[in-house]
Amino acid sequence: MMEIKVLKDILSANDQRAKENRELMDRNGIFAINITASPGAGKTSLIMETIRQLKAKTKIGVIEGDVSSSIDAETVAKEGIPVVQINTGGTCHLDATMLSNAFDNLPLQQIDLLFIENVGNLICPASFALGEDRNVLVASVPEGDDKPHKYPVMFSNADLVVLNKIDLLPHVDFDLQAFCEAVRGLNEKAHILEISCKTGQGTDRWVEWLANQLSAFNSPS
Ligand code: MG
Ligand code: ZN
Repeated sequence: MMEIKVLKDILSANDQRAKENRELMDRNGIFAINITASPGAGKTSLIMETIRQLKAKTKIGVIEGDVSSSIDAETVAKEGIPVVQINTGGTCHLDATMLSNAFDNLPLQQIDLLFIENVGNLICPASFALGEDRNVLVASVPEGDDKPHKYPVMFSNADLVVLNKIDLLPHVDFDLQAFCEAVRGLNEKAHILEISCKTGQGTDRWVEWLANQLSAFNSPS
């Protein structure tokens, strides 16, 4: 019983900090997207493709979460985008306090759209709110069509599921219809976008989705 109480305390402290993050971002007019995926699905590739398409007209910032290394942050920094690397030191998810610390090193007033690349993991990021506006889950074709069945909580939490590496569909055993049905079975509200960060296929629809979210955020009805 004791352990259950401790976990609840940790999560409610995290929720409180996430709320403070949300308020700080609201004061600075920042729309934040928490990007989750298993390792190698293409989170960084999606962020890089988005930066290339949007940086001329949208002020983007990035927080990179990784267990160790700063490889992804260096890739983003080359585009001239403000970026902070969070090394979790072994922890397999970002939490709201890590995000709050990262804010100290970002020019918040100069950011309208913030991408938070979570640690590659489809389990516990679902339990740790960060203060984000939207949750985007990146799945990829080579991982197989059974991911929604294996990680139902993450798929239920997503506002959007991006299915990356769609160019590999002819080469691997992936039942697209079964995947989409599994996602919809868990999550009626989530849209599914089929894209390839390699060929660019479908990335226009991703950018359009982002633009719609941003304009709704900036002029709430
Ligand atoms: Mg990455
Ligand atoms: Zn974790």
